[in-house]
Amino acid sequence: MTEPLSAIFQRLIAATGPLSLLQYMGEANARYYASRDPLGAPAAGTATGPGMDKGGDFVTAPEISQMFGELIGLWLADIWTRAGRGHPVCYVELGPGRGTLAADALRAAKRAGLTPQVHFVESSPMLRQAQAAAVPGARWHDDLSTVPDDMPMLLVANEFLDALPVRQIVRTEAGWRERMVACEGERFFPVAGPRPMDVAVPAEWRDAEPGTILETCPGAAAVVQEAALRLAAQGGAALFIDYGHDAPRIGSTLQAVRAHRKVDPFVAPGEADLTAHVDFPTLARVAEANGARWLGTVGQGQWLRALGIDARAASLAAHAPDRAAEIGVARDRLTTDAQMGSLFKVMGLAAPDWPDGAGFDPYSPT
Ligand code: SAH
Repeated sequence: MTEPLSAIFQRLIAATGPLSLLQYMGEANARYYASRDPLGAPAAGTATGPGMDKGGDFVTAPEISQMFGELIGLWLADIWTRAGRGHPVCYVELGPGRGTLAADALRAAKRAGLTPQVHFVESSPMLRQAQAAAVPGARWHDDLSTVPDDMPMLLVANEFLDALPVRQIVRTEAGWRERMVACEGERFFPVAGPRPMDVAVPAEWRDAEPGTILETCPGAAAVVQEAALRLAAQGGAALFIDYGHDAPRIGSTLQAVRAHRKVDPFVAPGEADLTAHVDFPTLARVAEANGARWLGTVGQGQWLRALGIDARAASLAAHAPDRAAEIGVARDRLTTDAQMGSLFKVMGLAAPDWPDGAGFDPYSPT
């Protein structure tokens, strides 16, 4: 048996003092994803919310319905077609989970004549195995640096950025400090670190109320920066899909999910999925500053409707009348505001000389 991460953290904190939240979250998720398949299958027919799913810790859009990956595949084929149908081209997915999205997207793209090389960035050996079964011929990478740099890249990342560790700073009576994690016995809890962090705080927040928290995700910014540099140099387009906000905000969005329930992120590190909301406005600025074109950031529901999810659902239901209700439930789950439709957002990027992407027109019907 591997030693529980909580025991390792306790020793480390006893020896060297509190850990930064960034390190705590990074190590916890590395352990979490390396040791299990976290994705639970939705309960057939009746799943209407996270609590109704069977197994696993959480459910993602591609596991809810094949329509999600198919529409992503068609989006990629469409922009690639309008960019001139160049070959070779590669499909790159960050954190592909079970490989379901890639399998659905590549099947739909193939019907439109797009048959790219497939490259996956995945840290979990267990999930790599599931991905190999779903997508024969895929190749794996630890990060983007080894993905081919001599052809256009069609990049997809669904619920990847939210798993990357965040740094938080908190306003104390004595000024801004990094948020750290301390422990007492088996109990972990956040504390303010000793080093002043005031220079890292934008002027308008310097004198915020004590207790105010600012959160950033250096890993997400680094990934989007690298993707943008690649798009500018190689051509291509990217879709980042995740939950998050589309206006700047303050406060902690750190949360932990286990068995489809929110749990305390400071209990049993490595045993629950730790996530934070994605800061889309910052990432759009990072992409543009690094040479990519920001196509837009829109709600997942609006984007899927613009791409024709209603017609796709109707056609699937016509072919399988006994599954019509289930297909309707899945479509609603992906698109309605009460479920995943507006909290989840789709951010599109493209090379400067690539065309606009479908679904990002703010005037398209919603
Ligand atoms: N995209 C999938 C899975 C989302 S879960 C879906 O929508 O179903 C997050 C995925 O990112 C998992 O595959 C996980 O193993 C992977 N992952 C998390 N942190 C990672 C990191 N730092 N490097 C590479 N992969 C990572």
